Amino acid sequence: MNRELLEAQLAELPLYQYAFIRTRDLCFSERIRWICEHECPMYNQTWACPPAVGSVEECRVRCLEFDEALLIATITEVGDIANIDETLATRAPHEEITRQVAELLRAQGAEVMALSTEACAECARCAWPSGPCLRPERMFPCVESHGIVVTDLAERTGIDFYAEGNLVTWFSLLFFR
Ligand code: SF4
Repeated sequence: MNRELLEAQLAELPLYQYAFIRTRDLCFSERIRWICEHECPMYNQTWACPPAVGSVEECRVRCLEFDEALLIATITEVGDIANIDETLATRAPHEEITRQVAELLRAQGAEVMALSTEACAECARCAWPSGPCLRPERMFPCVESHGIVVTDLAERTGIDFYAEGNLVTWFSLLFFR
């Protein structure tokens, strides 16, 4: 991996911040899964969410097959963060940047597993659970679906996380080897 080239390419993207992490430093929490199951309306709705992604332990094993990962964050100012439509409209550009970063890693010969934001919204109606994912090349499981507390990870890696004002922050975690 030519880290210098990658960082030069990352500097060309509208990223807010990024950090390389060792996957052994990740924390996997059953409590996050409990929140998915009991508080998220997307639970059991797409291949990107539990239970389709497997147990937290299965997710942990899958993640730890990679030694390293790249945490990326984008930040967008909206007029009113309480306006859900406006806030969610910032998500698609973040997903596109996640795809671009994955391609940069792949261009260097890396195998990549990317986790990103919320439930998958690629298809008008998800094929889960009756059939296989229709666009696996574009589907990113949600970071939290794997039991990873992304805001905690951001804090520990020095990424500023603003939970106030009209700033929308999205995170993706790209495992690579
Ligand atoms: S790509 Fe389509 S089928 Fe696959 S998880 Fe997303 S919405 Fe579901």
